[in-house]
Amino acid sequence: MRPFQFNRRNALTGDATLAALGANGFDVSDGWTQTTARMPRTTLPERGDIVFRTAYVMTMDTAGDVSDADVHVRDGEIVAVGRQLNAPGADEIDGRGCIILPGLVETHWHMWNTLLRAMSGNEPRYGYFRSTAVLGQKYTPNDMYLGTRLAAAEAIHSGITHVHSWCHNIRSDEHAEADIQALKDSGLRARFSYGPRQGQPNDKAINLRNLERLSANWTLYSDDGLLTLGMAWRGQGGNNPATAVPESVWKEELEAGRALGLPISVHVSGSRAAAGQIDAIHKDRLLGKDMQLIHAAFASDRAIEAIAASGASVSLSPYSEMRIGFGLPRAMEFLAAGVPLGLSVDTVELTGNADMFGIMKLLQSVENAKSEDEFRLGARRVLSLATIEGARAMGISDTVGSVTVGKRADLIMVSTSDVNLGVFGDPAHMLVTAAQPANVDTVMVDGRVLKRGGKLTAFDGHEVAAEAAAASAALRRRANWPI
Ligand SMILES: [Zn+2]
Repeated sequence: MRPFQFNRRNALTGDATLAALGANGFDVSDGWTQTTARMPRTTLPERGDIVFRTAYVMTMDTAGDVSDADVHVRDGEIVAVGRQLNAPGADEIDGRGCIILPGLVETHWHMWNTLLRAMSGNEPRYGYFRSTAVLGQKYTPNDMYLGTRLAAAEAIHSGITHVHSWCHNIRSDEHAEADIQALKDSGLRARFSYGPRQGQPNDKAINLRNLERLSANWTLYSDDGLLTLGMAWRGQGGNNPATAVPESVWKEELEAGRALGLPISVHVSGSRAAAGQIDAIHKDRLLGKDMQLIHAAFASDRAIEAIAASGASVSLSPYSEMRIGFGLPRAMEFLAAGVPLGLSVDTVELTGNADMFGIMKLLQSVENAKSEDEFRLGARRVLSLATIEGARAMGISDTVGSVTVGKRADLIMVSTSDVNLGVFGDPAHMLVTAAQPANVDTVMVDGRVLKRGGKLTAFDGHEVAAEAAAASAALRRRANWPI
């Protein structure tokens, strides 16, 4: 497939009325040219009538695990789960030797910077924040599209069915639209959080007018509800206190996001130097159920209590937090306090890949190491964080996160006959400690089969990677970047 091309002139052809007026009649001709929302670049598989047969089904709800079970999906909805289901006319997928579980729920990922995969270097001038800032400022909309599309393809490959695109390089409305378009083309369920751009001056608010326009026109982008909109809030300065955002600016941003009814997501207290950020947000009475706090590795016990009382959720990204030298996650403390908790990739610039099995395994190992206790964090508990609890943390557990009749069909099927598995023991332990993305045989999102027999169905993975590689090389040339 060809790289994504923007064409503003073509935006008003075809259905001029709809393109000029948003679905709710909002005039988008003034600056916000709706260029891409009606132009999908890939053909996604139809939502069909499909029954998975004779699998080991981990429902991750109160029904627990069911062996030799079937799962019947029709028009994107789970319509039955049980043994020997009657599903006349449905296409059958053989689940023998496989585990079916809810799709993995990812909760915070700078997908756009996947063009910079594994490029956080070994000295400060090539470190994560500088690399992201210097190269991010050279991004074209097409780079946004190709980076996020590569991330989305990897998500599907890895069994991730929900992503949270934390978009903090919105250099223009085209950059935002390109990120959204890549999500839409992938068929993933996603939250797109609208944020600043790399190099955004601290004393300048993000483009709130454009965020308002996007919000008013969201039905054009939402892909039948698969995509939702949020705010990627800078907070009071992210993880580096040197980048403090003036109060007038962060207040204006937060108030605008809340006035639009958007869920708010913010990086806080990730590093020791930023330990006091949650306390500051709490002191200003800004915590709320609509807020997701990212990292929070240095949350004080008092801050954890305040988070729990507010209903805010926390997103942990143990690989990036450890790779960048922030510190160790406090998963057990958050769980003990009843804080909704999700797991996240954050950025493959630091973590290299988007392997949620690896993230689960690392979190279990870190928590056991910290407590010097082999049994501190069990495999099934970790698996719940990557499925139903992650969905709860994102506010979507009524829709997805478990294999439950009536929910939307976001499912994955893991083959247990591959050589790195091959012995069927406790399935939660198998998934958390042994499984890898390559073992994911089938991925279904909202009833569409996006991976089957180990192969992506809507994307040519090699083409997606090759186009991203070419864009990444061109980007680094433009920036005179030596790596
Ligand atoms: Zn992040």
